Amino acid sequence: MTNASARRPMTKPEARRFITALAEANPNAESELVFTDTFTLLVAVVLSAQATDKSVNKVTGGLFHDAPDPAAMIRLGEDGIAAHIRTIGLWRAKARNVFLLSRKLVTDHQGEVPSDRASLEALPGVGRKTANVVLNVAFGESAMAVDTHIFRIGNRTGLAPGKTTRQVEDGLISRIPPDMLRPAHHWLILHGRYICKARSPECWRCAGFDPCQFKDKKIRREAHGGTAVPMPERPVDTTD
Ligand code: SF4
Repeated sequence: MTNASARRPMTKPEARRFITALAEANPNAESELVFTDTFTLLVAVVLSAQATDKSVNKVTGGLFHDAPDPAAMIRLGEDGIAAHIRTIGLWRAKARNVFLLSRKLVTDHQGEVPSDRASLEALPGVGRKTANVVLNVAFGESAMAVDTHIFRIGNRTGLAPGKTTRQVEDGLISRIPPDMLRPAHHWLILHGRYICKARSPECWRCAGFDPCQFKDKKIRREAHGGTAVPMPERPVDTTD
């Protein structure tokens, strides 16, 4: 496993070059979770904790067909929700949270997903990361959700070193230019999923190679012949 970290934090100009390079390599980056509206986005993100987007997408087709809104989710009930999501991790707790958050949306928010952080984080199963995804994707805010990929990239590359997800989140917000912050969430997640992977970062085909401060990047590139190879048009999914 490659746990080595950055030589030093990136400067702001380096952070801009790094994010710009990721954007150019993957200009149409967007969430890989399947959803149709803010409610289904919220549920999909709650279900995605410690599960891959692919595994979540496999269960949400049936779940959202049977329960496309909070009222229908309440009618389906905790057991009915559980029956749909048994193949993903933590399914019992997630079924309960989806049921309870649907009930709270109906009782406290007229069945709508609220657009402010405090109300989102008051929903069962919704923490800061989930709230940040919803604020970013559904409400257009420059919120930065730090998942396992973004936490790793922040520390490995020097983009935003930190011991906690909140430290990494704050570092990203302070270093990434404000106009790039909202889409940067998707660029970073996809970069971590397909290129800057946990066990074996593919530095030899990385668009952000030059500004990256990962101390082993040259060794890894030289092990693959020393020259960069062209990026595939669409990344190859090798799963998390
Ligand atoms: S050069 Fe390597 S470590 Fe740096 S961002 Fe690219 S893949 Fe990650």
